[in-house]
Amino acid sequence: MKKIGFISLLLLLLTLVIQIVLVVQLRKATIEKVHKVATLALGEATERFLDGDLAKGGFTCGMSDDTTFHWKGRTAFISSIADFHTRMLDVTYDHLFENQMLDCNRLDSIYRQELLKHEIEATSVLVLKDKEGSVLYPEGKLQIPGHAIWTEPVQVGYDCQHKLVAALSPLIILQQLKWNLILAGLFFLSFVGCLYWQLSETMGSVRKGKIQAEGVAHIEHELGKPLNGILMVVQDLAERQDGAWTAGDREQMGLVNNRLCHIRNLSETMLYALKQGNLPIRREEVDVRHELQQAIEMEKKPSVKINCRVAEGIEKARLDKVFFRAVVANLLNNGIKYNKSMAPEVNIDFSREGNWGVLKVTDNGIGIPKRKLKRIFKCFYRVSDQRTKDKTGFGIGLTFIKRVVDAYGGTIKVESAENQGTMFVLKFPVYNEA
Ligand code: ADP
Repeated sequence: MKKIGFISLLLLLLTLVIQIVLVVQLRKATIEKVHKVATLALGEATERFLDGDLAKGGFTCGMSDDTTFHWKGRTAFISSIADFHTRMLDVTYDHLFENQMLDCNRLDSIYRQELLKHEIEATSVLVLKDKEGSVLYPEGKLQIPGHAIWTEPVQVGYDCQHKLVAALSPLIILQQLKWNLILAGLFFLSFVGCLYWQLSETMGSVRKGKIQAEGVAHIEHELGKPLNGILMVVQDLAERQDGAWTAGDREQMGLVNNRLCHIRNLSETMLYALKQGNLPIRREEVDVRHELQQAIEMEKKPSVKINCRVAEGIEKARLDKVFFRAVVANLLNNGIKYNKSMAPEVNIDFSREGNWGVLKVTDNGIGIPKRKLKRIFKCFYRVSDQRTKDKTGFGIGLTFIKRVVDAYGGTIKVESAENQGTMFVLKFPVYNEA
């Protein structure tokens, strides 16, 4: 989860950086394009004069020899054809301006046509300034917003040294990036959605963890303290030397003491398992029959028939003794508890499939409704209906069992039919090499 959050954030930052780089680059490219368009428009406006009206204006200029350009009795050194061309445009501009023949409106319309040719549709204003920076065109008060983007000036004229600049609205950039920005916006929104979903998931897990921790603490308090209290009283009574107990009484007291110790150990094991993230499996050679018998001893009830079968070849297995006994005791306890049959019966069967042990615990009890089967392994979940309302429990037994099976890398399956019975099938490796 944490990793996904970090990657999302990184991708989001990357998208933002890409968008910023894109805007900056596009801004630069647009400024260059508009600058080029302004230069082209100016060139076209002056060339028209050179093509047609040159003679009319009494304007004379030309080359005296291969390298000397002359006009108005002045000369300049020319090194290339491009040089000559620039010089021609400059002096033509000066001539037009000085003789009030420069048609700025015409220049402006050429500029706009050029803009369209370059697929720039947004508003852009062409401004002509003199040496001191005063605006010559457009006439009247120049209304250009402060956030407008300006192109680099095009120097015009030889003597006049005017500047031609264009102001563009930043909207041009946004317009060009329209689809890109819409896509980035959608991308951004989906990321925010993902982050929100992730945050609520994490908060949910934290809340769940808190509830679970509080629940475990509650059970510890409800179960552990009274059990220890009863155990102390029982041990005190059993140790009385005043002759109040017969040998038979002592034996009974010993049995009660043993059972209580078992129950305390079992509840401690389960609570420990619920608190731990990963259960440590400590394998040892276990006498399976003996362990099953111990679990039966702990849970048996005179009214319930308990059958136990251990298949050949699995009498000894490498298992975690404590967890094994606790798992069997829990399943057995449920088989007895959730049983309203006239002849309650629980069958325990332990067999071998290769290196795997298969534990089946079957009862003829009340069963579990199909739609609730998926939830029974959730912590604190209990099926609550008419048939279970008189049954006490905390809803942690199956969670514990599932954790143990998971720690083995095994599987747990349940089959159940209402009012007919339930079967739990656990498979887990019983040898290290599995
Ligand atoms: P608890 O028995 O303390 O409620 P468990 O985690 O052992 O908690 O079981 C969860 C729920 O699954 C029980 O409340 C019960 O409704 C149902 N359940 C478990 N085992 C059986 C069974 N053998 N027969 C019928 N219902 C069962």
